Amino acid sequence: MADKNIPYKIYLEESEMPQYWYNVRADMKNKPAPLLNPGTRQPMKPEELSGVFCDELIRQELDNDTREYPIPQAIRDFYKMYRPSPLVRAYCLEEKLQTPAKIYYKFEGNNTSGSHKLNSAIAQAYYAKKQGLRGVTTETGAGQWGTALSMACSYFGLDCKVFMVKVSYEQKPFRREVMRTYGASVTPSPSETTEVGRKILAAHPGTTGSLGCAISEAVEVATSTPGYRYVLGSVLNQVLLHQSVIGMETKLALDKYGVKPDIVIGCAGGGSNLGGLISPFMGEKLRGEADYRIIAVEPASCPSFTRGVYAYDFCDTGMVCPLAKMYTLGSGFIPAPNHAGGLRYHGMSPILSHLYADGYMEAVSVPQTKVFEAAEQFARVEGILPAPESSHAIRVAIDEALRCRETGEEKTIVFGLTGTGYFDMVAYEKFHDGTMDDYVPTDEELAKYRAALPRI
Ligand SMILES: *Cc1c(COP(=O)(O)O)cnc(C)c1O
Repeated sequence: MADKNIPYKIYLEESEMPQYWYNVRADMKNKPAPLLNPGTRQPMKPEELSGVFCDELIRQELDNDTREYPIPQAIRDFYKMYRPSPLVRAYCLEEKLQTPAKIYYKFEGNNTSGSHKLNSAIAQAYYAKKQGLRGVTTETGAGQWGTALSMACSYFGLDCKVFMVKVSYEQKPFRREVMRTYGASVTPSPSETTEVGRKILAAHPGTTGSLGCAISEAVEVATSTPGYRYVLGSVLNQVLLHQSVIGMETKLALDKYGVKPDIVIGCAGGGSNLGGLISPFMGEKLRGEADYRIIAVEPASCPSFTRGVYAYDFCDTGMVCPLAKMYTLGSGFIPAPNHAGGLRYHGMSPILSHLYADGYMEAVSVPQTKVFEAAEQFARVEGILPAPESSHAIRVAIDEALRCRETGEEKTIVFGLTGTGYFDMVAYEKFHDGTMDDYVPTDEELAKYRAALPRI
């Protein structure tokens, strides 16, 4: 079908790796709403955040204006071990689908952590080290962020304490062991080791945990241990900034061959890979230089964009973190323990939330089994075993390509293939055995958590 004058894999040279991260907020006329102090409900000042986060990361978090952040040499050197990552033309998938659409995916699973999360983990560890800290604490859901952070911390010689959502801790013992291999300590959350953990356990005995709980515990340990700060793998503005390296490389690779995407698709948990992938495209859209359809894909079991509300909410269950204005299901929302894995957070990146509210992007939600159907279809023709999270994007990329088959349109579709699924074989097993469920929260359930949103 397609004339194959574009290579299957578009590799960039090491020397072509972006020199700077791109801060999309600089091109937003309406800036995302500021973080609020949970006590005073006033915008957070840098000094109020300094007990929780590293100083440089606070600067990045609050900076709505600087367009370009040079990537420090030490981070670029680490990136060189696994970047630039390939942009792949999915000829085999196109052929299988008999679609005139042209499909590309940016593959971020080419490192041991198995996902894009390493791009921000190494940056955050670098700034912690530079500040002279002893270590960092964090939460991890499915385990990818904890793995990436353990790798980054061992590289810079930092201690790493990970609170892992209990259901994942039990379902994914191998993830845990990878983190321990890189020297991290891993505690199932909620735990008895923190005050907030004990409180949550008392209120919800037997809970399987959530990211919101694990964040509260990690923050408590960071703020009560000298020489420690807390780091977060998604949602925050600084994380989207670091992940812009994905989008910059994608755009550079496409530009090399004069390719302009029509549709850019990414899965959305807290929004970091999607925010990173789309940032240079969104920048052009915001500046009125080009137009793209941008689609966020989320699980029907945790539908922050499609069924949440745009409001100030707590970032954690223990309500100790700043309030962020975002699409949220309510910080009390604990998703069913199914396999949406890394897409189980109750909220969404404030930057993406704002862009979505302003109509710059779309969002769709997809049920679990449809996601795994797409994952399997993709694996069988493209070879890569995708992470379940990434497969949300595959689902919608396939749906759009099939639509092109109906209409005959030769659209160019780019999606983010955020990682590999080797640690998710229990989920694949359930899918193959026909025991995977498509749990979707009811309106009543969502209303209950929405009613508990802070009034601001
Ligand atoms: C964590 C993760 C995601 C979702 O996180 P975002 O911050 O929304 O990008 C997606 N895919 C993989 C493989 C992940 O590990």
